[in-house]
Amino acid sequence: MTLEQNLRAVRSRIDAAASAAGRDPADVGLLAVSKTWPAADVRALAAAGQHDFGENRVQELLGKAAQLDGVPLRWHFVGQLQRNKAAAVARTGAVVHSVDRPALAATLDRAGEAMGRPVEVFVQVDLGGPEGEAAARGGAAPADVPALCDAVAGAAGLRLRGLMAVAPRNADPGPAFARLAALAERVRADHPDAAELSAGMSGDLEAAVAAGATLVRVGTALFGARPLPCGEFEEHQPRESHE
Ligand SMILES: *Cc1c(COP(=O)(O)O)cnc(C)c1O
Repeated sequence: MTLEQNLRAVRSRIDAAASAAGRDPADVGLLAVSKTWPAADVRALAAAGQHDFGENRVQELLGKAAQLDGVPLRWHFVGQLQRNKAAAVARTGAVVHSVDRPALAATLDRAGEAMGRPVEVFVQVDLGGPEGEAAARGGAAPADVPALCDAVAGAAGLRLRGLMAVAPRNADPGPAFARLAALAERVRADHPDAAELSAGMSGDLEAAVAAGATLVRVGTALFGARPLPCGEFEEHQPRESHE
């Protein structure tokens, strides 16, 4: 399978899931998570019409953003973010999906003010692990999410797009996505412009679309299997190109 064929197959899955849920497929976007894969693969998918790409490590994002300068694409940062690297991420123009604490929001707010254009962000929700323990993948506790969203929405250097979450591993994602959807509805009541929901990956995008996801984040189904299970902590080097 070529990258372009994978892209068509993933888009078909999204469209089918949207139709099955009685939703307009045009309301569900695709974020291609290119972590571990080389810039050449991003370039190839961009040439095939893919616009949004996600990374979860700062150095890898900065490296690919530099290599692909001038290619019409939008970066997204989906990994845990330290405050001392937040401004560098913001300067790539990336949408930050992992705002999970007030201090990080404040740092990104200052970066947005300094750039003269707001940083677009999602507030990440911790949906817990299979037994209800903290998922260790970042995210604010659901109880803290409304106040964090209020802070983001009130910051001149930020624009709140909505909520983001990763479903618990090794568990039915349906109940977790249902809790996420209820929280998103509550946030939207206070912040009508924060209408987006970033949820769903290669293995669970159908469940996420059924629960109202407007942006699914897909890596493996587009690029192939990564050498290690997806996680935020392993070190990795960009892999050989598909081409
Ligand atoms: C890696 C990653 C994805 C994509 O996961 P796949 O299972 O490869 O599709 C989505 N979201 C986040 C936050 C990730 O780190």
